[in-house]
Amino acid sequence: MKVPLLDLRGQHQPLRSQLLEAVARVIDSQQFVLGREVEALESEIAEYSGTKFGIGCASGSDALLLALMALNLSPGDEVVTTPFSFFATASAITRLGAVPRFVDIDPQTYNIDSSLIEAAITFRTRAILPVHMYGQCAEMDAILAVGARHGLPVVEDAAQAIGAEDSGRRAGSTGRVGCFSFYPTKNLGGGGDGGMLVTNDEALAERLRRLRVHGGATEYHHDEVGINSRLDAMQAAILRVKLKYLDGWSEARRQKAAFYTELLREADLAIEIVPPFVAPAGRHIFHQYVVRIPKHRDAMMKHLAHHGVGSKVYYPVPLHLQACFAFLGYGTGAFPEAERAALETVALPCFPEMTEDQQRYVVEVLTKFQAEARA
Ligand SMILES: *Cc1c(COP(=O)(O)O)cnc(C)c1O
Repeated sequence: MKVPLLDLRGQHQPLRSQLLEAVARVIDSQQFVLGREVEALESEIAEYSGTKFGIGCASGSDALLLALMALNLSPGDEVVTTPFSFFATASAITRLGAVPRFVDIDPQTYNIDSSLIEAAITFRTRAILPVHMYGQCAEMDAILAVGARHGLPVVEDAAQAIGAEDSGRRAGSTGRVGCFSFYPTKNLGGGGDGGMLVTNDEALAERLRRLRVHGGATEYHHDEVGINSRLDAMQAAILRVKLKYLDGWSEARRQKAAFYTELLREADLAIEIVPPFVAPAGRHIFHQYVVRIPKHRDAMMKHLAHHGVGSKVYYPVPLHLQACFAFLGYGTGAFPEAERAALETVALPCFPEMTEDQQRYVVEVLTKFQAEARA
């Protein structure tokens, strides 16, 4: 049996005619960038995430960049964030000449450890940037409380967490601004790159709409310098088809995740292969099903590959140890939990169309390895 880490064919095949129709509609309209399709998607995503405004842009990375531009981040300013995330979380900060102030993660959720944020705040701090890793919200109550105490806006990197909830509030809706990615492998993925910002702040929404079109409120008149980061109508049309299925897919991911955890427990593997911790007050949408394997993770991945099972590490190098951020002066040992997670965690195949047989097979392969490791 072969079990890929992710297979999008099962998602797209049943939607094929709807997707082609949506693309044809855009071609017939001749409105390829922004326009009605994008505006419709912006309203739909805003509604879906429980916010007033949605602002489409070219990618999740740009959403983060635009959010920080709209907060007037300037050189030397600091943003408190996690060292355990996709690269764009930190590069959005450094591209503006600002400085990421990393704090370590919670070893159970892999999200920023909210109890460490306050100590990292200085007179230069301008924002707090939590990431909702793998589809589970960071502890927003605690983070918002620190933000409020210090008058700091919270920017949510919700690229992996569209539809996730924390105490009934949707990812992206609780901070000043939330950032989504529609990269094809995300839970809501387009047919290419795409991203969106959501906010309840009307002035901020207006500013973001200008910043994504070179800072011009009207064509050829620029009050400030923005960037070119517009969402394509074709992406919006495709995403509008897929958005209708997102809750069903997320529910299926949650079921697959629960089933994996049950299988790992049944196989008596949950000590050596630690299943994801699911916070009871939230809705984890399992962008990834990530286990911790304290011993022999890399050997286990080789074994999985040998038996036709995909797996991947998100992310193998913590941000503070990236070569391009050496100038920040962090060394190995600066954030032990992030470093340990980079060495010990691995994502197993988990997508809505996976079968129970495939999941049983993955756990069988894991069991075989552990039996040999124990012997
Ligand atoms: C995917 C992702 C991004 C970037 O999104 P792109 O659309 O690929 O630019 C940012 N942050 C996190 C946590 C992500 O997973």
